[in-house]
Amino acid sequence: RTDQALLEVNNIEVIYNHVILVLKGVSLSVPKGGIVALLGGNGAGKTTTLKAISNLLASERGEVTKGSVVYKGEPVQDLAPSALVKRGVIQVMEGRHCFEHLTVEENLLTGAYTRTASRAEIQRDLDLVYEYFPRLKDVRRSQAGYTSGGEQQMTAIGRALMSRPEMILLDEPSMGLAPQLVEQIFEIVKSVNENEGVTFLLAEQNTNVALRFARYGYILESGRVVMDGPADDLRENPDVKEFYLGVS
Ligand code: ATP
Repeated sequence: RTDQALLEVNNIEVIYNHVILVLKGVSLSVPKGGIVALLGGNGAGKTTTLKAISNLLASERGEVTKGSVVYKGEPVQDLAPSALVKRGVIQVMEGRHCFEHLTVEENLLTGAYTRTASRAEIQRDLDLVYEYFPRLKDVRRSQAGYTSGGEQQMTAIGRALMSRPEMILLDEPSMGLAPQLVEQIFEIVKSVNENEGVTFLLAEQNTNVALRFARYGYILESGRVVMDGPADDLRENPDVKEFYLGVS
């Protein structure tokens, strides 16, 4: 744990439908400017952790019943999701969630809605998104619903960038994408992190790729952190190799 944490999750417990205990005391810390990976298999609790941070559990009948989420030293668990976006934290949901009937560019523009920015500023941000994702410029007039899975993932990340975030919570960016595309998306995450200083907390089942791009990782199993450490250490750990990297 570092003392310069941008985000701290302290021992949170999450219950769905008043009875199903899914997170059993999860703690993690994300340093400013870091890329931190939240790893674990299907159902380990990665998505739930991200939704607990951005306060998106209510619509799923989920509730944080213990612990705290602290952003820049202030508790944020009672903030509305939109208030958190205003403070600079935005979540890119699993499954990408584009507005299918809007064009790619319209989708990107919706990302700027919480800001009071001039048209010129918004155009600059759009250009920046197109610099990171040249492909999106090519398909900017296409209906998002008709673009490929990779393009939709890029649109979802691009839309998040349009809110000028300090931190992006990225849920399963590799899901359903061909390895080459996954690589490309992680490369872009890395350059956004390096050039724009955006901090990332990303949930991934693809341990291999996540640990190559993240600097620190937490492994969740059944709603608990069972291991954490610098990404390089985790990659060399025999248990991680055997259970998560598919080599022994
Ligand atoms: P995935 O990769 O499938 O998203 P995950 O690690 O993100 O996995 P979660 O989606 O956080 O896992 O789910 C953790 C556990 O919580 C699972 O057992 C899941 O069945 C349960 N769960 C998730 N959402 C709900 C809900 N709305 N109501 C009840 N149980 C839920």
